[in-house]
Amino acid sequence: MRNLTRRSLLLAAGGAAGWYASDLFHARLPVLDGTRSIAPRPANNILNDASGLSPTPIHRHITLTEDPGDALIAAVRAEMKSAEADGRAFNIGAARHSMGGQAIPRDGVAVTFDNGFVEADTAARTYRAHAGARWSQVIAALDPLGFSPAVMQSNNDFGVAATFSVNAHGWPVPFGPMGATVRSLRMVLPSGDLVTASRTERPELFSLAMGGYGLVGAIIDLEVDMVPNTRLRPTFEVMPAKDYAAAFRAAVDDPAVTMAYGRLNVERASFFRHALLITYREDEDQTDLPPASGSGWMAYLASRVYRGQLGSEALKSFRWWNETIVGPKLGGGAVTRNSLINEPVVTLDDRNPDRTDILHEYFVDFDRFDDFLTACRQVIPDSYQEFLNVTLRYVASDPDSVLAYAPTPRVAAVMSFSQELTARAEDDMARMTRALIDRITEIGGAYYLPYRPHARVDQLTAAYPRAMEFATVKRLVDPRLVLRNNLWDSYLGVL
Ligand SMILES: Cc1cc2nc3c(=O)[nH]c(=O)nc-3n(C[C@H](O)[C@H](O)[C@H](O)COP(=O)(O)OP(=O)(O)OC[C@H]3O[C@@H](n4cnc5c(N)ncnc54)[C@H](O)[C@@H]3O)c2cc1C
Repeated sequence: MRNLTRRSLLLAAGGAAGWYASDLFHARLPVLDGTRSIAPRPANNILNDASGLSPTPIHRHITLTEDPGDALIAAVRAEMKSAEADGRAFNIGAARHSMGGQAIPRDGVAVTFDNGFVEADTAARTYRAHAGARWSQVIAALDPLGFSPAVMQSNNDFGVAATFSVNAHGWPVPFGPMGATVRSLRMVLPSGDLVTASRTERPELFSLAMGGYGLVGAIIDLEVDMVPNTRLRPTFEVMPAKDYAAAFRAAVDDPAVTMAYGRLNVERASFFRHALLITYREDEDQTDLPPASGSGWMAYLASRVYRGQLGSEALKSFRWWNETIVGPKLGGGAVTRNSLINEPVVTLDDRNPDRTDILHEYFVDFDRFDDFLTACRQVIPDSYQEFLNVTLRYVASDPDSVLAYAPTPRVAAVMSFSQELTARAEDDMARMTRALIDRITEIGGAYYLPYRPHARVDQLTAAYPRAMEFATVKRLVDPRLVLRNNLWDSYLGVL
């Protein structure tokens, strides 16, 4: 009970790294009309994604529930073949929390996998997961065995193959993106061939599929690393933002630190001037670990404070004070690794039909972090957007994926905006996003691809110098361009 209370207080202080976004609106289909939004009834053949801003006509949407065996493989082959025969696109999605149609095939066949098969091998410290298994299902399977996913996002709603396909990162350290923890996978290629890919078997396909947004093959299952679940205790450090990069680097290099993240203050008057670093180390007591919990009702209360920041500088200051003064004074109680990452997106649901949560994410080298702060101070407060949060994570360098966003070790800055559902807000967001991407690529950084498709094509190639190589090899693997989504249609396919 004591631990629960401390954990709850930590959450109330905004201590969970999962302050990422609110629940997003699959069903909402806004028509952007000046400063008003109109929500028509969803049409049956329209598919949307987490932003609610990507209503896209599709031919058909089917859900496949088979285990990762012959029946699933046959069903995927049949759907791909029939899409190809009709000249249609084919694309698999999981939670469709990407925000720019990255999991939607325009006028094509959209497939959703729904099966939580997970089989652990405790001796090898790996598990085999259905491509569509959600992290909540993986945690539920590994937790009783005393294990935990090595890397996943800060929320548990997403699919395992989807996570590999965007090459997402989390906040355990000192890991690279999730792809770094995948040993091998099986996928059906557009030719219909079922192949295994890994760092030693068809490594070029493995590198293409990692962060390849479903454009290379339909992943059936994956063999992924797991790590022991442990009881962890947090430490809080408040500092000027200019000192964050050095402090974070030292934390990541400390072998005792197994989870770490940071925050910056978001009040306009002192935007990005102060930082908070939270590190987790193993507790002395590793006996009788409780089952993985979610964060419960206190997280819900904390989410109300988070939402209260909208249009209120006072509440932004209150939240920062709560996180940096109250949270550290109370100290954090011990909590298991699995409980920390077992956080559903719905906790932060804003329940506001006139707004949507939009994420941005940027990756910069440690020695350019000050330049990153300057760029953000010059661009973000001038926009019309409500900026709610930034979380700072570590991503080790990624030598594998062709579309790598962290070719060197980087600080990842995950930003959460609350955007009005109006044409004016959409235009303003697009303008600000492009300005920010220009500034970040100028300092050698990259932006993240699963969010809104506001970047220009030249910005994508500046951030991902191997984009042309990706498109060229994709055309060889998929000459009839069956595997398509908006990332292909609007970006890679025009290179
Ligand atoms: C609230 C929120 C929190 C987030 N937190 C983080 C975070 O902590 N770290 C981070 O890095 N990112 C984070 N993201 C981004 C997130 O990782 C991506 O949006 C990811 O795509 C979400 O998973 P999904 O199941 O919704 O994927 P979907 O949007 O369904 O799919 C993503 C991509 O994977 C492909 N794909 C899916 N399944 C298969 C398959 N079987 N075979 C081939 N391709 C497939 C799809 O075609 C698509 O291109 C967050 C996003 C949100 C909305």
